[in-house]
Amino acid sequence: MKERIIFLVDCESFYASVEKAAHPEYKEKPVVVAADATRRSGIILAACPIAKSYGITTAERLGESLSKCPDLIVLKPRMQMYIDVSLRITQIYESFSDLVEIFSIDEQFIDMTHSIGMFGNPEEMAKQIQIQVLLATGVKVRVGISNCKILAKSACDMFSKKNESGIYTMSKDTIADDLWKQPIEKMFGCGSRMKQHFFRLGIHTIGELAQLPLHKVKSLLRTRFGKNADIHATLLWQTANGIDDSKVTPSTHRVAPKSISHMMTLPRDYLEHEVDTIILELTEEVCRDARRKGYMGSTLTVGCMCSPFDAPTGFSRQMTLPDPTNNTNTIYEAARKLFYLFWNGMPVRRAGVTISGLVEDSEYQLTMFEDQERQRALERATDYIKDRFGSAAIARASSFGAAGQAQHRAMKIGGHYK
Ligand SMILES: [Mg+2]
Repeated sequence: MKERIIFLVDCESFYASVEKAAHPEYKEKPVVVAADATRRSGIILAACPIAKSYGITTAERLGESLSKCPDLIVLKPRMQMYIDVSLRITQIYESFSDLVEIFSIDEQFIDMTHSIGMFGNPEEMAKQIQIQVLLATGVKVRVGISNCKILAKSACDMFSKKNESGIYTMSKDTIADDLWKQPIEKMFGCGSRMKQHFFRLGIHTIGELAQLPLHKVKSLLRTRFGKNADIHATLLWQTANGIDDSKVTPSTHRVAPKSISHMMTLPRDYLEHEVDTIILELTEEVCRDARRKGYMGSTLTVGCMCSPFDAPTGFSRQMTLPDPTNNTNTIYEAARKLFYLFWNGMPVRRAGVTISGLVEDSEYQLTMFEDQERQRALERATDYIKDRFGSAAIARASSFGAAGQAQHRAMKIGGHYK
């Protein structure tokens, strides 16, 4: 098979760059965009490179930033404008390849495999992309290049963001020098808990993990996280070795579906508390689907059918959510409340969760911005792992109980076993 050419393109200080392009008078000034920009407790969402040179970092409190740089120009976020610019940038990428996947508002994967030759070699193509985006929007982009998504992302985060050109190619032949010498916590998917665990095992660099045989990594993780750690071990080991076959999947943002729904017929009667697990699993599937498709729901519908089947009872009830969301915990709490409000206590044989009134998820409200961002980052990482390994890879603890259907369902496609 032909070697793929994958780009991960990241916008530098995205919100701040968009604001600076809109405010030429601030060109040489330190600029930040902050949620709750009128208060010292507001959170920095983006800082331009000049602001960063004062030591200001994303996610710190505005008060802290102002003490580092009293002349700081503080702007409040204008999300719709950032979304519009992000879509404009996506359109530029789509003129280079029809395979563009939106990873976040300021990061996209592009599969350039079939564009090579048309626009030059990969680095020349990256340069053209940089120039076009800069001319059209004033935003500087950095490009990580490799033969798979995980290495393209690593190339960008570890090198393109730091070098002069903003372009870096990491190939299988160079990972020993590029990737393996990096500290383990720089690896995609290695959180602080995993870092500490690796440290205790004497693993400090990505290379030290990569060079262990996979069965050894599995057994090391098992001793701490149990047998279910095998898939996680595989993911970490593959990441360290730059192995990632996942495809660049164009986002299907264009035609809005009316609703996203999951139903489940249960193998037996389910009673109180067990029902919670089912609602959580259904909610998780609905939300994951919504996140993958790029939507949030404004209306929630919960329904169930109770036994006996010959004289069934049941209900289907709707509520409007306070804000459009695709967050599993938020919808789960609402779905539970709605369910218990209308459930007559009869054993449940069939249940369903639906969200409708869909809006594109980049239009989300800024309320609770800080929490949402953290939650969204976490959910993106989980979805990514599930996309690569199937949904059985990460199941919530409650799904391992007797009531859990997620493990069982993940083995089936359309009701049939794989
Ligand atoms: Mg960025």
